[in-house]
Amino acid sequence: MSRIAVFPGSFDPVTRGHEAIVRRALGMFEQVVVAIGQNTGKSYYFPLQLRQEWLSQVFARDAGVSTLVYSGLTVELCRSLGARYILRGLRTAADFEFERTIAQVNRQLAPEIETLFLLSSPEFDALNSSLVREIHRFGGDISAFVPEGLSIPPPTGQ
Ligand code: ADP
Repeated sequence: MSRIAVFPGSFDPVTRGHEAIVRRALGMFEQVVVAIGQNTGKSYYFPLQLRQEWLSQVFARDAGVSTLVYSGLTVELCRSLGARYILRGLRTAADFEFERTIAQVNRQLAPEIETLFLLSSPEFDALNSSLVREIHRFGGDISAFVPEGLSIPPPTGQ
């Protein structure tokens, strides 16, 4: 069975921190599926289509990376793909507390699926998507925080 990891998140927007996690994981898995979770109750800042386009663009040259959009349980997505690993990134102790709860619940739902954590690269451990959204909302330049080459729309005033 091939070694497939699902990297779920909102990617609102994808950051250099996400990019680094996926690239490091590529050395460990045959396939990394970057999965944009679309929760009906949650509102997002950047449109889904743009978030997906950005991810496809960032990993266009990485044969082992694919991107998709899903709704529902992450463990069900993993089962449908034959993926036995969920990949998440850890920056802080707060991340750990949050991630621990999700991972334990996922283990109860699907004991055959392991959640694996990679510590963030130190240069990105203060980087998070909500900060990047905040900077963008107020007209700041976010290009240093997101992967190279993305075309970023102007803020919409929302
Ligand atoms: P979510 O809405 O599920 O938190 P995110 O898109 O914010 O989704 O993050 C997806 C995953 O990437 C999470 O595991 C998060 O901890 C991790 N992550 C986010 N930013 C970084 C970073 N700068 N370095 C390492 N991991 C990160």
